[in-house]
Amino acid sequence: MNALFRSIVFAFMISIFTLSTPMLVAAQPNLSVVVNGNPINSDVQPVIRNDRVLVPIRAVSESLGGTVNWYSETKTAVVTKGSTVIQMTVDSKEIVGTFGRKEIDVPAKLMNDRVFLPVRAVAELFGCTVNFDDATRQVQISMPDNPGTPAPSPVNPPDSPSRGTTSSPEGLTPRLSRVYKSGAGIFSLDITGAANVTYKAFELSNPHRLVVDLSNVATDISKGNLPVTGGPVNGVRLGIRDDGGIRIVYDLAESDTGTRIKYTISQTATGISVDFDRKALRIIIDPGHGGKDTGAIGNAGVQEKDVVLSVSLKLASALKAMGIETILIRSDDTFVELEDRAELSHDKAPDLFLSIHVNSADSPEAHGTETWYRYDEYADLASVFEKDLAVGLGRTDRGIKKGNLWVLKPEEVPSILVELAFVSNGEEEALLKSQDFQNKAVSGIVKGIRDYFKLR
Ligand SMILES: [Zn+2]
Repeated sequence: MNALFRSIVFAFMISIFTLSTPMLVAAQPNLSVVVNGNPINSDVQPVIRNDRVLVPIRAVSESLGGTVNWYSETKTAVVTKGSTVIQMTVDSKEIVGTFGRKEIDVPAKLMNDRVFLPVRAVAELFGCTVNFDDATRQVQISMPDNPGTPAPSPVNPPDSPSRGTTSSPEGLTPRLSRVYKSGAGIFSLDITGAANVTYKAFELSNPHRLVVDLSNVATDISKGNLPVTGGPVNGVRLGIRDDGGIRIVYDLAESDTGTRIKYTISQTATGISVDFDRKALRIIIDPGHGGKDTGAIGNAGVQEKDVVLSVSLKLASALKAMGIETILIRSDDTFVELEDRAELSHDKAPDLFLSIHVNSADSPEAHGTETWYRYDEYADLASVFEKDLAVGLGRTDRGIKKGNLWVLKPEEVPSILVELAFVSNGEEEALLKSQDFQNKAVSGIVKGIRDYFKLR
């Protein structure tokens, strides 16, 4: 945003009707701007174009204690001051914000790569008044002591015969006005004052859906199913959460073999858009240990690092055959730091990070299969894999366990760690070495992937 700020000069624009010719302009004193009597300092001097006084908005908005954001994609400026937000789009006479909607007589203009906003509308909505002193050619902006509320006795600026609507208490909340499909795979939410809305998006499985929770927003749209579908979206639902926020749920088409509906979400000045696309699943397989780190060693000499590498290579082949993008943390007997494994997981942002290990205990009696997770949101993921793996291997289901395992650290990545069986148990050590058992492990994990991602 800083670069944009440098490259674009914002300016207030007000109409004056007292000047008609350049000669007259030259004969008069220089234009100046004062806020509460204090002159505004700016690199850009006020200028006159088409009988209008143009004032740099950055200096003025800073003097008013507000901030300006510019969204070049939509050519929209959002001015925020306290709890009041107004949003103006270049060449649009409609101004929207926390106050609602309003028609303005002078739209925002883009001239010579500079954006000019009408000062009267902006200042009034922030409770200021604007006056043009003809004699001194001074733009006088008066800001009330209590920002955000209208001045008690406003003086109409010269371009306004009457005062417009000002902010009202019920107008302070951004409003969701429209939920619709705006393009191929693109689903949009039009929100007045969207800059003040925060959202949280997350996916749920069985069935696959995307949830977008909006905070600090109201709507007149009735809750329930909305008549919006298309492409990968089977349906859209709107709900009101207990905390008053709005929940939008996108019901997504089931995944094809090796693919999954993925999404990119973006927030602009005018709303929030979700771009859905069918993409290959990306799975990171993390064979535990390696190199100097042997992992657990059984009485018969079976080493954990060898078993998990063998299973991981078989699994990678199976997943690639399914069209899944597969990344192996190691594909040979190499030592890899735990931090580097977690970092790769974070960087690659896979749909699943799967760490494969073999268990060990002091007691030779201990046996069976375990699945570990780190964050509560992945407990269900762990349950799916634990069940499929224990059944596939035909071993005791020891259940899911929660722990602060380093490789599962990136919270945004669905991550689990499976302990296939106990190398410290004589029977299971022999099984772990066998190709048949390793193939069963691969089948169990593949079933977990199919079940979790709802692959056909
Ligand atoms: Zn291990």
